[in-house]
Amino acid sequence: MFGLWTHERNPYINIIIGPGQNCSHGTHSFHQDIDYLKHVGTFLNTEFMMCHIGEWHSHHRLRLRQPSSGDLNSIWKHFPAGVEHFLLIIATIEDDYVRLNPWLFTASTHSYDAIDVNIIPKDNVFMRDDIVSKRISEGAEKSLLPQQKNISEALNGKSVEHQNEGPWFQTDRGASIVQFLNSKLENIIDASTSIEKTFTQGCLKFSLRRNTCRVAITFPQDFPNSAVKIVCNAPSVAGPLEWTVGNTEQISVEIVDPIVQSIKGMVRTVHA
Ligand SMILES: [Zn+2]
Repeated sequence: MFGLWTHERNPYINIIIGPGQNCSHGTHSFHQDIDYLKHVGTFLNTEFMMCHIGEWHSHHRLRLRQPSSGDLNSIWKHFPAGVEHFLLIIATIEDDYVRLNPWLFTASTHSYDAIDVNIIPKDNVFMRDDIVSKRISEGAEKSLLPQQKNISEALNGKSVEHQNEGPWFQTDRGASIVQFLNSKLENIIDASTSIEKTFTQGCLKFSLRRNTCRVAITFPQDFPNSAVKIVCNAPSVAGPLEWTVGNTEQISVEIVDPIVQSIKGMVRTVHA
């Protein structure tokens, strides 16, 4: 988040950006693309004298409105030098509503407090500026999320309805399948295995790599109408495997186990 500090040392937000294209999303972590942050930050600082006043991220459905211990470590470790305050906004999704929870960190007292939000009623001129939006879009991760229009209501402490018109994995059931699959995959990987999650052209793809063995699990854009496809590059593995799940009502976390079992089988075959 970029903006200014008021006379009373309150944060005043002008610009909020999302993830850069080289960020990394884990099940329980998010690491911003530092080059992207610098690209936007240098521009806003040079052209508008705006400061990097804080960060935001989501705790999804964990119902954890407070900073986690990881958040606290990270904020204090990377606290900007010579700065007294830093703002952290944590978004939570509760009963399909998005809630924004702002926390103000203070360096001299090494403390943090929940704060209130005032919405400036005027339209945000910075967000309407073509040059600003061009800079923000350069290097940004292409989002599949529908634009959140009611951000001011969420900031006001009210909750706004979580829009479920996006891809299947943004639905309650879809999100739990992705989280479950992610945690199962993280259980079977070790130091020699890497796992990467990408969204390309509406497809959600998990890629596992162990030495020369590569396994790709692709959920098509119109999942569950089209099948999940699992492809392994090892010549000894027959493939590709496909799972057709039927209609949306039927998709459940139960599809995860056969997928994980077959991946384990593939990795074993390669190393047999
Ligand atoms: Zn957090």
